[in-house]
Amino acid sequence: MSKFGGLGVLSHVETREHAYLASIETSREILKRSGLNSDNTVQELGEQQAQAGVPEERNFYRRLEPAMPTVAEEQQRVVSQKTRTMADMQKKYDEFLEALPPDIRLAFVDMTSRIGMAWLHAMSTNGKYRHLTDSQITNAVNIQTLSSQVSEGLCPKCGEVDSLMHFEACPNTSKQLIWNHRHNYVRDSTAAALSKDKKKQVSKEPHINHNNNQRGDIRVEVAAGEHEDNDYFGFVDITVKAVLGVHTEQARADARAAAELLNHGKLKNTRAEIEAALQLGAEAKRRTYREAIAQGARFRPLVISSGGTLHKEFYEYLKAMIPDPQVRSNLCTDVSIALVRARAELLSARAR
Ligand SMILES: [Zn+2]
Repeated sequence: MSKFGGLGVLSHVETREHAYLASIETSREILKRSGLNSDNTVQELGEQQAQAGVPEERNFYRRLEPAMPTVAEEQQRVVSQKTRTMADMQKKYDEFLEALPPDIRLAFVDMTSRIGMAWLHAMSTNGKYRHLTDSQITNAVNIQTLSSQVSEGLCPKCGEVDSLMHFEACPNTSKQLIWNHRHNYVRDSTAAALSKDKKKQVSKEPHINHNNNQRGDIRVEVAAGEHEDNDYFGFVDITVKAVLGVHTEQARADARAAAELLNHGKLKNTRAEIEAALQLGAEAKRRTYREAIAQGARFRPLVISSGGTLHKEFYEYLKAMIPDPQVRSNLCTDVSIALVRARAELLSARAR
């Protein structure tokens, strides 16, 4: 269930009902096949439970539809515990999103993106790009469970309003260093994944433009003796973007207004807001390199949010340039850990 943003531990109180109902339904299927199922069987069980003092709301035999199924019901598949639990989780998740303040909702949806969550499944590994200290894990879990607010009221460091995501905005001396580390980890792990394909020649920090010494993050060219080439070859520049900044406010508001007209529900609307903020990042990078682009350089901005949402161009790039799903998935885990480590470090730098 961690896809809903939790830590994957289900409450037995909440799943109990689904387990009972699924189990009763499965049993009834078996009884039907043996010719033993009847209204009476389930009614009797319900009465036995009532006599044994089971409260009405927990007497699941009584809550069922009449025991003898109609023809249509006979043909329906038994609803499993997992399906019941998932439907219940989905409903609770929608209610939860609905109840969050807009900024927190956005940060939460961002962090529970696929890459945002990937680190939770990789904590025991310890590769080149994968290391989290105990305190980083503590901080990361506090952020993920929306318990990252340090004070109530104003931030004692900068005087701005404290909030769950204030650690991203609060200025501090190590911030630039944390940002650089994060950026370089994402760049290095992406370059490492790209160079697994021997048909590609990958270089880091290549010159883009000889006139003004601009450097991109990665250049991919066709390796000597190879012919594979496509639109995605050329220079890329990687941006890790915090989506809740002031300068994205208007774009997010516009996206929210447009999405609400389509009535897709909170999750989709919130994702549209994040995408709008990431789009600003991509456009800014195209402006930065406009001269080189005008001179014919093949350039792509690769933008990902600090919570782990890939901008659509970054997503397309990964699909096209790293076709091996295993290599891509490992890269996503590396990137996830780089992002979560930076979030954790920003929180400790802010809390001190
Ligand atoms: Zn502050």
